Amino acid sequence: MYKIVLERKMCTSCGTCEDTCPEFFELVDDGFSHIKGSKIGDVEEIEIKDADCVLDAAETCPVMCIHVYEDGEEIL
Ligand code: SF4
Repeated sequence: MYKIVLERKMCTSCGTCEDTCPEFFELVDDGFSHIKGSKIGDVEEIEIKDADCVLDAAETCPVMCIHVYEDGEEIL
């Protein structure tokens, strides 16, 4: 099981995560990234079964505001 955490206050609205992993990320009306299926807030999180493209999105986010946890341990 994976947990994705997005620190929206750090987001620079570059759009990389949306391009890399549109299944999970989208830029919304306030201009910042949002994890699809989560509640919009300063810090968003969601649990998912397979990390898939989320790992690529976390690696390529220029400000490293996407964090990925696997079984409770931060891996990115
Ligand atoms: S890649 Fe990072 S900085 Fe760029 S839109 Fe996504 S969360 Fe924001």
